[in-house]
Amino acid sequence: MKNIKDYNLDELKEEMISINEKPFRAEQIFKWIYVENVVDFSDMTNLSLELREKLKQNYTLNIYKIIKKQESLDGTKKYLFDILDGNAIETVLMQYKHGYSICVSSQVGCKMGCKFCASTGLACVRNLTAGEIAEQILAVERDTGIKISNVVFMGIGEPFDNFDNVLKSIKIINNQKGLNIGARHISVSTCGVVPKIYEIADMDLQCTLSISLHATTNEKRSAMMPINNKYNIEELMKACKYYIEKTNKRISFEYALAKDNNDNLEDARSLVKLLKGMLCHVNLIPINKIENGKYDTSTNENIIKFRDYLNDHGIVATIRRELGDDIDAACGQLRRKEGGNG
Ligand code: SAH
Repeated sequence: MKNIKDYNLDELKEEMISINEKPFRAEQIFKWIYVENVVDFSDMTNLSLELREKLKQNYTLNIYKIIKKQESLDGTKKYLFDILDGNAIETVLMQYKHGYSICVSSQVGCKMGCKFCASTGLACVRNLTAGEIAEQILAVERDTGIKISNVVFMGIGEPFDNFDNVLKSIKIINNQKGLNIGARHISVSTCGVVPKIYEIADMDLQCTLSISLHATTNEKRSAMMPINNKYNIEELMKACKYYIEKTNKRISFEYALAKDNNDNLEDARSLVKLLKGMLCHVNLIPINKIENGKYDTSTNENIIKFRDYLNDHGIVATIRRELGDDIDAACGQLRRKEGGNG
């Protein structure tokens, strides 16, 4: 059966025409899905019984089941969802002063193999569809009754390895007749799939781009992130500069600090050199040690020194508030604990 959440509004109009319905039905259905967040076609009460029946027979609303939910003392909620095909994915809800932010997965697993990441070692089973990405938001809103205002693509998976579905999900999430989450409130994070950075730069999308940088020399970065063997730091920086020039938008560089690996002042100096003059921001993340992982988290003292060095040398840097570290909220940890593919 087709997942009705895989259609953006224009496609849903086409779909209605194809089943001999008026295109305005698409807007009604879209509203039931993304505004009313119903779990059954029967609840779409302004549609004829006949149409509701037709929808039931041809489409699914793809409602996720919660396998596990963990709540942190700081209010962070982490979900392991059964996505109805025997697989499981993770979604994290975080509360900030300015509202609720959700961290969504884009794939079941990941191919990128970053050495510090909990998803590494588990296979990438498949891409999530646009509707499966959007359902993560709907499922969390249903469970909590809150309205989510920000979306970050920082869950399991590499968004630029599932480019088309991720872009389509952004279009769906963004639609004013549905969830209405502004593109400026959506961030996409990549480990550095360079050709897609050029593509997104040429698209005039208003989302924020985050780049997982984590190291400043090819030697260190390749040891942490295999993608660096394919697209090295020079190529990555060239693409980032193109993106900034083309969009006039700030890039957010993620830098996960691992003890005695990339967290000393020499690294900070090298980072300043690399980013000097670029319209950017650095997000420092104390590395979250994974089971049997070789990277340990930096000391608070080193993290603060690192941040201060950047700030003193003209690079705006902040330390990411570690939400939910009492509940394994780092990428992939819960799924891994629960046995891989779910
Ligand atoms: N594949 C994308 C998005 C998913 S990971 C990317 O690489 O950007 C989201 C962020 O968390 C990335 O910056 C990633 O490098 C970082 N990350 C993954 N595992 C981590 C860990 N154990 N500790 C700290 N940061 C981690």
